Amino acid sequence: MNPFTYERVSDVQTAAALLAGRPDARMIAGGTELINWLKEGIDRPGHLVDINDLPLASIGVETDVVRIGALARLSDVAAHSGVREACPAIAEALELSASPQLRNMASMGGNLLQRTRCPYFRADAELPCNKRRPGSGCAAMEGENRMHAIFGWSADCGATHPSDVAVALAAFDAIVRITGPTAERTISLLEFYVPPGHTPHIETVLAPGEIITAIDVPRVPSMRRSRYVKVRDRASYEFALVSATAGIEADGATIVSARLALGGVAHKPWRLRRAERALDGRPLDRATMRTALEPEFREARPLAHNGFKVELAARVAMRALEAAWEMAR
Ligand code: SF4
Repeated sequence: MNPFTYERVSDVQTAAALLAGRPDARMIAGGTELINWLKEGIDRPGHLVDINDLPLASIGVETDVVRIGALARLSDVAAHSGVREACPAIAEALELSASPQLRNMASMGGNLLQRTRCPYFRADAELPCNKRRPGSGCAAMEGENRMHAIFGWSADCGATHPSDVAVALAAFDAIVRITGPTAERTISLLEFYVPPGHTPHIETVLAPGEIITAIDVPRVPSMRRSRYVKVRDRASYEFALVSATAGIEADGATIVSARLALGGVAHKPWRLRRAERALDGRPLDRATMRTALEPEFREARPLAHNGFKVELAARVAMRALEAAWEMAR
């Protein structure tokens, strides 16, 4: 691990100015991801800005929005009674996301800023990885790509985003609130992540000095009947092979509005909007689900070792829809 200096700040503007003024500075909150980067040599910051004293840990459930501070801990959000009632899928995704110890430390903002679990990106050896060493190639394209993307990837990177809760947030059009050295702004979570293209090392729209301050989730009726389903290689402490969030608003036996997003299949949560539209106004049965999902998965582009994900993702989406439907009826 490289030597670095450290300071703790207590207001957002100071933190933003410090981070903007030093390209080698990184913010640290829970540290559950950053410390891995330091140990694995993925990043070598010269200065750490500890943001844990910033007033960004509140969780508010209002009539029209759920607002989650960027420093709220995963375990606090998952246990919050207002969040659990407003959007069960958020709580479920958090509870399935890591060990209790990690959930107690990890922050919501840090969770959204996790980096891929691609084995070449995390390797000790210097392997071709455009995300870690721009221009070095992508070992996964000809190598191990079982965990990789089936949507949205480029020839330069096929990595997936590992966050569970991002999938639940994206299904309900979450907005990321950002403060920079000179201004504040908001952006849709789905637009927050940048497609890999030829520059997979650029993963988000955050500019130097910009900090996530909160995540807003506009409340819609389908949130209250929402579920998160995660399929992984072992029962706990594992990232998703494929996951799905579904939310359903129903009127008797008819779907009024459906929300559906997948995880583990792209560089960001993958929203299935066409399927949502195809489900609106229909009763939920397996034939309807198959018909709604089929056009989405026709566009899947699996790699050599992850063709199984296409069928798996369709089945996980169906399980999430069925689970949400059980709540909604
Ligand atoms: Fe690196 Fe992306 Fe290729 Fe993995 S898939 S080796 S992260 S460039």
